[in-house]
Amino acid sequence: MTARAPTISFVSLGCPKALVDSERIITQLRSEGYQLSKSHVGADAVIVNTCGFLDSAKAESLGAIGEAMAQNGKVIVTGCMGAQPDEILAAHPGIAAITGPQAYESVMKAVHDVVPPAHDPYVDLVPDQGIKLTPRHYAYLKISEGCNNRCTFCIIPQLRGDLVSRPVGDVLREAEKLVKSGVKELLVISQDTSAYGIDVKYAPSLWNDTEVKTRFFDLARALSTLGVWVRLHYVYPYPHVDEVIPLMAEGAILPYLDIPFQHASPKVLKAMRRPAHQDKTLERIKKWREICPDLAIRSTFIVGFPGETDEDFEQLLHFLDEAKLERVGCFKYEAVKGATANDLGLDMVPEEIKTQRWNKFMERQQAISAKRLASRVGKRIKVMIDEGGPTVSKGRSVWDAPEVDGHVYVASRRPLRAGDIVTVKIERADAYDLHGTAV
Ligand code: SF4
Repeated sequence: MTARAPTISFVSLGCPKALVDSERIITQLRSEGYQLSKSHVGADAVIVNTCGFLDSAKAESLGAIGEAMAQNGKVIVTGCMGAQPDEILAAHPGIAAITGPQAYESVMKAVHDVVPPAHDPYVDLVPDQGIKLTPRHYAYLKISEGCNNRCTFCIIPQLRGDLVSRPVGDVLREAEKLVKSGVKELLVISQDTSAYGIDVKYAPSLWNDTEVKTRFFDLARALSTLGVWVRLHYVYPYPHVDEVIPLMAEGAILPYLDIPFQHASPKVLKAMRRPAHQDKTLERIKKWREICPDLAIRSTFIVGFPGETDEDFEQLLHFLDEAKLERVGCFKYEAVKGATANDLGLDMVPEEIKTQRWNKFMERQQAISAKRLASRVGKRIKVMIDEGGPTVSKGRSVWDAPEVDGHVYVASRRPLRAGDIVTVKIERADAYDLHGTAV
């Protein structure tokens, strides 16, 4: 008889980068014979992978830890908030262990201490591509850890350290395994995708007997040969980003760029210490669209950054009008503890002004996004199905990333399945989504 496999309940909070960390920990747990449990009650321990970026995320993390403590009591905390153990222990003194972000070995050591693994040669073997928390047809591909930038509102470099790029050969092998296991879309993520390889001086590595450089363009070109959708996230408008636009125009990678611009006023961008803040962004976007008219740009912005005046905010609205971005998110500035922005000696923007600006921003952008979506009506476009249905399925176009962008609702005579790529005639658009029929 074999011992019962120990069970772990896992909570994954935060951004796609944290999700990739969770996938790695779970892969390791499964390879050591641990089973995953859907509920905290009855599990041998709980792991909470936290996010500690904004105060609201910290509150969510502390809430999840509290729930795990109440329902189970043996709780291991990891992730970004793990870098601030005092705050966690003050709220929940009985935590079994706390480890920081990317500390896979420490998490596993804590698990071994709390729940030793069962020795069973027949326990579940881990599939070659690891365990994925995203649906089977798409996967996040993390190409680096940490960040060399020092944006003043951000504490990620304090939490995750400087940029460490994975060798391109490793990234490409992982991508190949994912594709072999049925993944149809790869989402490239990191803190600063366009900085990929700078830390290793673009060192070449071998992939299928060819030398490939650990470099943004070379990675994008190599991924484009795998025959799946490739989407680039967290790119900054550095001049070398121009090189990938022709790949998008050729259809080799998706015509999609996720660029967190954060603001448009040169003064605010300077105070934020944003990468590429001196570059002429509007001109660059115009040039990109000339080369690849189909390009969709997603971005995020912060309103109410310390020192932001009405004039700065007007500049931001003007940028929106000119740039005509497809998808935009907006956050009100939060004074994250430990962020340099709080100590710049700039005036804090009152909450009610932040809210007024946020409302104005969203209203302005909604009209722009709706217009861009409406321009798709009457066209035939490719759609990747995320949730199949007998008559209506939910999917995404090449211009929409999972989780953050809009959907395409597809009526069809035959049932569609997740991962199917179909041609859809678009009949209607609303503020965020498209509706059409499979042809
Ligand atoms: S680029 Fe800036 S906002 Fe992004 S992780 Fe690095 S420091 Fe933070």
